Amino acid sequence: MENMKRTMKAVLVAVMILAALTSIMPSAKAVSRSPDMAKSLPSIRIALVRLEDVSPWYALNPKRLELLRYIADYLASRHVPFQVAMIPIYLDPATGIHIGIDTPDDPRVKEFIATIHYMISKGGEIGLHGYTHQMGEGVTGDSIEFSKDPRTIESTVSYMALRVDAALAAAKAANIPITFWETPHYTASPEQYTYLESRFSIIYEPGPINYRTREPFLHSSSRPGGAKVCFVPTPLGMVDGPQEAQSIVLFADDSHRQILASLFFHPFRERLPSEDAAPSSPKDETGAYLERIIPAFQSHGFVFVSVTQVRKQLLAKTQAHPARAAYPILP
Ligand SMILES: [Zn+2]
Repeated sequence: MENMKRTMKAVLVAVMILAALTSIMPSAKAVSRSPDMAKSLPSIRIALVRLEDVSPWYALNPKRLELLRYIADYLASRHVPFQVAMIPIYLDPATGIHIGIDTPDDPRVKEFIATIHYMISKGGEIGLHGYTHQMGEGVTGDSIEFSKDPRTIESTVSYMALRVDAALAAAKAANIPITFWETPHYTASPEQYTYLESRFSIIYEPGPINYRTREPFLHSSSRPGGAKVCFVPTPLGMVDGPQEAQSIVLFADDSHRQILASLFFHPFRERLPSEDAAPSSPKDETGAYLERIIPAFQSHGFVFVSVTQVRKQLLAKTQAHPARAAYPILP
């Protein structure tokens, strides 16, 4: 009986995801559906969540790794696939801290890599969020790594390529499959974006063409075979405290808004249920952000999907309607 219930649940979830994916795009006008039918169907829409700035900084304190696993467990318990924007190397030049997945013999790094594998086992897709996400004396996560200023070395393709290669090699050595790229603070030069399009099939940001893009879109790249790159924006922005969490919950309530329900979140803002330590910031006193946000979306018919599912669906749609390849969502 228990088994059957579980199977039924799995089938229901699969059907919901399928339904969500077929209604993924805002081209609802293109779908011929009678008004009566539209009324009787529950409006299922997709949502995406990305865990931001996940670097070996988390390994400096075992409690932080526990928090990452706790979040992965919570998301899996709600059938939520999620993305992890991983920074391979954490640097704090002022204090001399340097910890990265390129030194897997460090026991702390070993634990970090094991935690990343644990998150993958719970439905996480891992992306590269730069190599160090800093430049000069900057601290990882705080400062940009690449630049739009053509006078700087950090805006060049050669500068970026060295870092992308190092990041991919470190991930490969740690046996971490990489699904997407996200530029630190979404900042790079046009030449660097062209380069990124030749290296990654998913770029999880609005892209250089239109920063205000509110829907995912495909872009023809210079990749061999003309493969298309999928850009996925995060129009709902960042959960940066109780106020943002509340406004995102309100967004979920307003199902008429035609923008992608895509947001990102720094895991350190969450709190372990058993934790008596002070929150990382007084405004995070209550924690439990994801426990407010995820059910709010799900109770309004949103289904969480992965960036890989978004790309597959966009590609399938383009192939089915080649004439419509030039989507209205293209900026
Ligand atoms: Zn970042």
